[in-house]
Amino acid sequence: MHDTIPTVTLPGGEEVPSLGFGTWMMGETRAQASSEIDSVRLALDLGMTVIDTAEMYGDGGAERIVGEALKERREDAFLVSKVLPWNASFDGTIKACHASLDRLGTDHLDLYLLHWRGEHPLDDTVAAMEELKAAGRIRAWGVSNFDVEDMEELFSVADGENCAVNQILYNLSRRGIEFDLLPWCQEHRIPIMAYSPIEQGRILHHPELIHIAKAYQATPAQVALAFLLEREGVIPIPKTSNLRRLQENRDAVDLDIADEDWARLDTAFPPPSRKMPLAMI
Ligand code: NDP
Repeated sequence: MHDTIPTVTLPGGEEVPSLGFGTWMMGETRAQASSEIDSVRLALDLGMTVIDTAEMYGDGGAERIVGEALKERREDAFLVSKVLPWNASFDGTIKACHASLDRLGTDHLDLYLLHWRGEHPLDDTVAAMEELKAAGRIRAWGVSNFDVEDMEELFSVADGENCAVNQILYNLSRRGIEFDLLPWCQEHRIPIMAYSPIEQGRILHHPELIHIAKAYQATPAQVALAFLLEREGVIPIPKTSNLRRLQENRDAVDLDIADEDWARLDTAFPPPSRKMPLAMI
C-alpha cells in the first residue's frame, strides 16, 4: 500500500498533487514516441497528474506526445505549457497558446507559464494571459525563472498578482532560492514547481545521497525528491521516459526521512547563507 500523493493548493483554490511529471527532451525522435506516450499515461495512472510541457520542447514535439497520451483522458491531467519569451507579446502569447492547444489536442490548459523573461513588457504578457483566461483557453497562468525582483515587478503591473506559480530550478544541489525566493513565494502563497529536481541525474552519484538512500532501502532519486516533497508549496516535476524509474519516483512519497538524516543532507548540500542569483538550466 502506497501513501497518496499530498496536494498543494494554488492561489485560485484548486488542489493539485505535489509530485508532477516533466517532458523536456520528449518528442524529439520517432523511435522514442511510444515509450514516451506510455510514460505520460503511467504518470496519470500513478497520480502524478501535473504534466509539464512547453512549446519549446522538441519544437512542439513534446506537446504532441502529451496530446497523444491524453486522448480520451484529458480530464485526468492538470496540463501545464509555456510560451517562449520572444513570443510573449500580447498577440504573440495568444497565438502561441492556440498553437500549443492544437498540438495538445485540447481546448484549454490548466496553467500557462511565461518560460523566462525576455524583451516583451510584463504588462503585455499578463494582459494576454488574462484575455486567454477570460476566453476559457487557460484556467490560470504563472511564470518561470523569476527571481524575487522579477516577482515584485510582476506584482506591480495590472493583474500581476494573479500569478499562480513560479517554476524554477530547485534541488539538493541548487538551494539558493531558500535564502529569499522560496520564503517570498511561500509568504505570497505562490507554489513553486521545482524543475530538474534530480539535477538531470547529476546528483545521483553523490556519496552522501547514496549512503542515506541505502539506509532507507531507497534510491538516491527518491531521497532527492523526498527533500523537495518535504517543503511547503513545492511541486517537483521529474522527467523520465522509463516506466520503472517513473514508479520509483512516485514511491518517493512513501519515504519518511529522520531529522538526523536531513541534517546530514544539509551538511552535504549546504543551504545558502547569502543571496544567490537565481540559477537556470
Ligand atoms: P530531471 O531532474 O527531472 O532529470 C531528468 C533526467 O533524469 C532524465 O535524463 C531521466 O532519464 C533521468 N531520471 C529520471 N528519473 C530517474 C531516476 N529515478 N533514476 C535515475 N535517473 C532518472 O531534469 P529535467 O531538466 O528534465 O527537469 C524536469 C522537468 O522540468 C523537465 O522535463 C521540464 O518539464 C521542466 N523544466 C523546466 C525548465 C524551465 O525553464 N521552466 C528548465 C528545465 C526543466 P530517463 O528519461 O532516461 O529516465
